Amino acid sequence: MTGSRPYAPLVERLNEAGLRPTRQRLALAKLLFDPGNRHVTAETLHAEAQGANVRVSLATVYNTLHKFTQKGLLREVIVEAGHSYFDTNMGDHHHFYFEATGELQDVAGSAVEVARLPEPPAGHRLGRVDVVIRLQPKK
Ligand SMILES: [Zn+2]
Repeated sequence: MTGSRPYAPLVERLNEAGLRPTRQRLALAKLLFDPGNRHVTAETLHAEAQGANVRVSLATVYNTLHKFTQKGLLREVIVEAGHSYFDTNMGDHHHFYFEATGELQDVAGSAVEVARLPEPPAGHRLGRVDVVIRLQPKK
């Protein structure tokens, strides 16, 4: 790799999100955003980082994923208590969750229609509705 040139678009992306483009953040952003839309967990991203010789602790990976999510670069999909995926696809979509394998697959936003929602509690407005459709293998 020569200089910081391949990182220029990522530096800009982090700056625009209000995040200081540290070396670790850039390395993780490259792993996250270069391959296109994907779902990662902190553990899978940490393993990828190690495979790419990026020295970063699992705690830093967690913190970075949550920071990126807070700043709107990622979307967190909670499939079970304590089990989150981080999604690089910020477009309108929902998910199939394969319970047997733990995999997540995108479903087009237009494929899901939410017919009725409760009134939000006082002082709140509706934000986003995330639909996770849980799949089980046929018997
Ligand atoms: Zn997704």
